[in-house]
Amino acid sequence: MTTPIAEMDGDEMTRILWREIKDELILPFVDLRTEYYDLGLPNRDATSDRVTTEAANAVRRLRVGVKCATITPNAERVEEYGLHEMWRSPNGTIRAILDGTVFRTPIPCGVLKSFIPGWTLPITVARHSYGDIYRDTELRVEGPGTAELVFTAADGSVTRRTVYDFEGPGVLQGCYNKDSSVENFARSCFEYALGVKRDLWFSAKDTIMKQYDGLFKDTFRRLYETEYKERFVAAGITYFYTLIDDAVARLVRSKGGVVWALKNYDGDVMSDMISTAFGSLAMMTSVLVSADGCFEYEAAHGTVTRHYYRRRKGERTSTNPVATIFAWSGALRKRGELDGNNALAGFADALEAAVMETIEDRVVTGDLAALMDPQPESVDSETFLAAVRERLEKKL
Ligand code: NAP
Ligand code: MG
Repeated sequence: MTTPIAEMDGDEMTRILWREIKDELILPFVDLRTEYYDLGLPNRDATSDRVTTEAANAVRRLRVGVKCATITPNAERVEEYGLHEMWRSPNGTIRAILDGTVFRTPIPCGVLKSFIPGWTLPITVARHSYGDIYRDTELRVEGPGTAELVFTAADGSVTRRTVYDFEGPGVLQGCYNKDSSVENFARSCFEYALGVKRDLWFSAKDTIMKQYDGLFKDTFRRLYETEYKERFVAAGITYFYTLIDDAVARLVRSKGGVVWALKNYDGDVMSDMISTAFGSLAMMTSVLVSADGCFEYEAAHGTVTRHYYRRRKGERTSTNPVATIFAWSGALRKRGELDGNNALAGFADALEAAVMETIEDRVVTGDLAALMDPQPESVDSETFLAAVRERLEKKL
């Protein structure tokens, strides 16, 4: 490696896997260069969460990063870890700084049964990863009163709308997005669809949120008409807008094979549905792409807390490391591409091929064993990693 990548460590079971993946599958083969940022919750707390911002800025500077799953603290976590504050979601912070789109695609594997048998082609969820509820402002309303939306323009002029006249206690939420971010989102989706030559769908709820979701719908349509239509026609693909409820129904009846662009929350929810339908949350790649070409690779699942608690009691766990391995291979391949380092990109290909061979040889963790017919005995994470290493060594 010539240029480092930004390495962001995380929490719980995925932190354990992170170390094991590096020791077994990366460090023996690659002269690894990273800038290391510890985003584990204890260090985020010790640095008042500055480490998260530093890590995001490192991704900007180095253009490539790889991130382990991290805990987003809630009230229970504040107590469990004795936190000074309920720190915000690290992914939310990083996405706000990179202002990009998260593309999530299932890792196709013939030996796994899909829960939706009609889906024979991959479905990529393109999730806008800026603003909306992930940067919301919330208010607990304690009693009767009037809630208003107030906008004070730079010139001092004020616009007000009544949200609700509360007759008793309740809750309030304020969200925002920006024209520039929505436009970046639409552009990266059009480019991605052209890159993989698959139809692009965008769906939202503009019948209800006429201004908010209307901005998204209009931006996609305008860019399509003015900039992308000819290239789409030449590539033999189409752009299609429909309401999100209609899109869900159509998608279930389809063969797949689309890039499905979604607002931030819709993408969060739907990517779990898509990955589970294709197999497991641990069989999905996830990359955040900023409009100016920075790439952050991660797993789509969380820190697998339930397995971690079992591990702490001394039990061996069968936690699937595939998504975390593919985060590493994705980042190393991109670094190789950007630096013209073919050996590094080739290593990433070999690593992914070794993982797929291991699964095809029916050496799998519990989540995948359950999807196979006949069902093999599952192995623990360490046995799986050793089996991948054996195949990787042969390839190299
Ligand atoms: P999770 O960590 O994704 O795990 C939920 C369940 O899914 C697990 O209990 C396990 O099911 C299964 N699972 C997920 N990944 C797996 C894997 N690699 N191998 C095998 N099974 C896997 O979600 P969570 O329990 O809701 O969240 C735990 C923590 O992760 C939370 O603190 C949350 O804030 C954080 N989180 C972080 C990210 C991120 O950093 N990107 C994303 C989501 C959540 P079984 O127990 O049935 O085996
Ligand atoms: Mg999620």
